[in-house]
Amino acid sequence: MSDAGHHLELRGLRKLYNGHAAVAGLDLDVRRGEMVVLLGPSGCGKTTTLRLIAGFIQADGGDIRVDGRSILALPPHRRDMGIVFQSYALFPHLSVARNVAFGLEMRRQPRAAIAARVAAMLQLVKLEAFADRLPRQLSGGQQQRVALARALAIQPNVLLLDEPLSNLDAALRQDVARDIRLLQRDGGLTAIMVTHDQDEAMAMADRLVVMRDGGVQQIGTQEDLYERPATPFVARFIGRSNVLTGTLREGSVLVLEDGTPVRLANRYAGSGRCTLALRPERIAIESDGRAGPRHPRHLSRRNARACGDAGRRHERGGASAHRGRAARALADRRRDGGARLDRRGGAAVRRRRPSTPPDFPRLTRRR
Ligand code: ADP
Repeated sequence: MSDAGHHLELRGLRKLYNGHAAVAGLDLDVRRGEMVVLLGPSGCGKTTTLRLIAGFIQADGGDIRVDGRSILALPPHRRDMGIVFQSYALFPHLSVARNVAFGLEMRRQPRAAIAARVAAMLQLVKLEAFADRLPRQLSGGQQQRVALARALAIQPNVLLLDEPLSNLDAALRQDVARDIRLLQRDGGLTAIMVTHDQDEAMAMADRLVVMRDGGVQQIGTQEDLYERPATPFVARFIGRSNVLTGTLREGSVLVLEDGTPVRLANRYAGSGRCTLALRPERIAIESDGRAGPRHPRHLSRRNARACGDAGRRHERGGASAHRGRAARALADRRRDGGARLDRRGGAAVRRRRPSTPPDFPRLTRRR
């Protein structure tokens, strides 16, 4: 396997079907040795993007470069992409070893070199004992491992993974996901994976691309997408959010549609219609001793995310910018871990401790 991954660039990549942009000017850099996952709802252009990179379909605009050189004019077999499909796409009449050897034979490599490479690849995916079997004599997970060995055998510039786990049952998914991730990472391979499964994406990616209508909504790490969603769509799509709409007043009060004012712990530039995405685990409930829906509730800085017109965030300053009760409450929570008795107004109310956000377990350790 190649030690050094390659740098893949998509620049203004476009694909039109019947005048409709399936991929609408996509810009993306996949760094050497990085695993980037394309994530988004059905029909957002993930598969089309992968097929454009593979060369199975022609772009209507833009460029695809590997290490700075355009590969647009190259046919698929000269792009040196290792491809793993959802359907495995193994040759049913060829043995496991011949399937793995296929790309090397196409490249007319010497027989001895092919035999050595096939043996090494089968060892890598733990299928040495299955070299002479036909694909139908293997389980789904084993077949996908053969497909992976075949993709890796050619020492690809980039590994393209098209929903590689979708046909596997739940028990196998995690095993194969881990194998893919470790082989990709240990080999320093540059990879792009397409999936519609958020958990899978979160577990496997170095960075994720959230797509919608052929375009990019946000590119970032798991934490970026969860903690700092760039658009209301990302805030809704990644994890769970309470999405509140209202009007921003004086930079720090969101007036909900029913007239309830919600005071924010940090200030935002701008005014007018605003969307606030509030993660459930960030909500702390406390009594201020004055019941009634019209009294401002306080939200800490971490609670208030993705606030802005058309998804643009206007965050300025931070919790420290907001002096007074919210800042004190935040400081209190930091001090005592989030649970304390609030005795204002004569009422003793147990505050709910805000729970921690998900820690996005990643598939990077060997079992
Ligand atoms: P995803 O993989 O995100 O589900 P696709 O890339 O398959 O989405 O499709 C993106 C859009 O392009 C969809 O609207 C789809 O209907 C359209 N599309 C994909 N392939 C074709 C095709 N061969 N002919 C016409 N439209 C297509």
